[in-house]
Amino acid sequence: MESEKQTINKTNVIILVAIIIAIVALIYIIKYKKTVQTSTSVAENETNYEMNGNEASNAENNNADNNEDNTINDSNDSNNNHNSENYDVSNAQKGTLVYAITKINIRKEDSEKSAVIGKINAEESATLIKSQDNGWCKVKYNNKEGFIYSKYLTTEKPEEAEHNEIDTEIINPRKLDKNKPMVALTFDDGPNPVSTPIILDTLEKYNARATFFDLGSLMENNSKIVKREEKIGCEVASHTYSHKNLNTLSENEVLEEQEKTDEQMQKILGHTSKLIRPPYGNANFLVKSYLNNYALIGWDIDTLDWESKNAESVIKEVRKYSNYDGKIVLMHSIYKSTAEAVKTIVPELIKKGYQLVTISEMAEAKGIKLQSGILYTEIK
Ligand SMILES: [Zn+2]
Repeated sequence: MESEKQTINKTNVIILVAIIIAIVALIYIIKYKKTVQTSTSVAENETNYEMNGNEASNAENNNADNNEDNTINDSNDSNNNHNSENYDVSNAQKGTLVYAITKINIRKEDSEKSAVIGKINAEESATLIKSQDNGWCKVKYNNKEGFIYSKYLTTEKPEEAEHNEIDTEIINPRKLDKNKPMVALTFDDGPNPVSTPIILDTLEKYNARATFFDLGSLMENNSKIVKREEKIGCEVASHTYSHKNLNTLSENEVLEEQEKTDEQMQKILGHTSKLIRPPYGNANFLVKSYLNNYALIGWDIDTLDWESKNAESVIKEVRKYSNYDGKIVLMHSIYKSTAEAVKTIVPELIKKGYQLVTISEMAEAKGIKLQSGILYTEIK
């Protein structure tokens, strides 16, 4: 009897120990899973940010007639963001002209995995053959038949957006010599806690000014840098909140991108800006009409800093030009290589007799009233 009781007790103890081990193991597994998840999402964010920078410039470059292009990934991002109210072509008849709202691939078959047989630029037209239930349209473009995801097509004919005069304000006015040439350096995609301050050090050292097209989403965590940009006389302007291709967004989404950036600027600087550089330089006629209270600022000298990530190459790109007067130079404040290049570019331009000015300063000095509905690539 006694030994049987002992056996039962022993069994109970073993079961109890087993349960405790199981619980402890379970807690460890849950904890481990959480750690893995957190680190993955951080890594993902970083990659996304990287991609953003590269992609951004890829596309921005596209405007400069380069082979690098910003063609978007067809239906990949469209499923969660279908925007049928504006661009629905499902009811259009065969033979209707349909217009691309952004630069987009034409595919052999109705799938984003299918071969690319061509590209259509924003606002170019194709002839509709049929609109399919699966979200794809068969079209004829340049005598070739192929498929385009319908989200990127509209039956609305591109029209010139209306022009409204934009009230730009020079926050830190100074005396400029209107008869001396001037050039506007611009820096996108920041503020960046590492490279932006290096750029600011150089500008401050030479009493030079530039325009920073910052992302609203990065302003809050880098508010000191935003404040310093303005403090040394530079212009802080919008590169939207989250760097999306505005051509693919609805009116509300475009306005939200801008309003959220304005909110950040208001909070940090106590004022907003009427200048926007659209990500990838993309602003079709619809985007221009949505942003009718803002001037859109492009560029005409692309340093390709995003591609080379090499200071010497950036300097060389700038040196290719002989007359910089009225020109807008595109750089990105997120690369150390760009920050290094600026240390040479700034004194060199000054030595050549140029005044390094902000976009608003250049417009005022040249007697140009900036208007909405225009994407400015130079100011003269
Ligand atoms: Zn950008």
